[in-house]
Amino acid sequence: MSGIFPCCMAVPKASRYNAGMTALLTPEQIAALCRPAAQRVDVRVVEETGSTNADLMAALPGLTGPRLLIARHQRAGRGRAGRPWQSRPGQSLTFSLAWKFERGLQALVGLPLAVGVTLAETLALFGAEVRLKWPNDLLLEGRKAAGILIESAAAGPGSWAVIGIGINLALDEETVAGLDRPVASLAPLAAIDQNLLMAALLSALAEMLEEFAQQGLAPFAARWNRLHAYAGQPVAILENGRALHEGIGVGVDEVGRFLIDTGAGRVAVMAGDVSLRPKE
Ligand code: ATP
Repeated sequence: MSGIFPCCMAVPKASRYNAGMTALLTPEQIAALCRPAAQRVDVRVVEETGSTNADLMAALPGLTGPRLLIARHQRAGRGRAGRPWQSRPGQSLTFSLAWKFERGLQALVGLPLAVGVTLAETLALFGAEVRLKWPNDLLLEGRKAAGILIESAAAGPGSWAVIGIGINLALDEETVAGLDRPVASLAPLAAIDQNLLMAALLSALAEMLEEFAQQGLAPFAARWNRLHAYAGQPVAILENGRALHEGIGVGVDEVGRFLIDTGAGRVAVMAGDVSLRPKE
């Protein structure tokens, strides 16, 4: 972590979480704490919006470089296939990063997995040890604690990716009870300076995106597999609630397909609107 601090700057002390923690986020503080790869990112913080992904997707035609948009309150966050992502002001970290690639949309295959690796490795530095669920979730002890949604758009010969991330810092009991699955909050993250956390995440994402643009998923696949939540465990791949494949979860290959050992041999599943679930 030491690389994130300019040498003259004191490390902010951990402080007790309070509901106003994310209110202290400022673009200036985040930018000041970022490593070089993230210095060209235009960092913005808004009080409230519907969806940071939707805002950045709408802003793409006017963007000349990467932009990070953080919302202290995101009212209508999105997951895959239009599913909702719930967040609460002061209890969640919600942000999106728009990043341009020189290559076309096909080059973005596997990006959610590289983002997952980057988030998990960075959060571990702050004491939040999560595992990865293919293709786009971060789990704490089997419960969903953060999600990733990547949207994209062609841009001439190149492409834009808008990487949306929602992290549960300290969801209240009512919100947790209202969700249709077991969820978790990453308590250690709620106890640290949010500008420092955001700068660490943005720096790691920018460094990853530079590497991904050159080499694709290959450098990240083994790292993903080390963090795999269901390695060696019984799982099912579902489509519209119906099991397409059942077997033992293996991990991902170098293009991001999920490998599952079934009675009929090893199957490689492409991410689409399919869901991975553990089996009892
Ligand atoms: P898959 O399991 O196929 O990856 P998913 O059901 O996890 O898909 P996503 O699009 O990844 O779907 O995420 C949206 C889902 O996440 C919602 O339908 C809801 O079940 C759950 N969810 C919503 N808000 C939160 C939250 N703050 N924390 C944890 N889970 C949430």
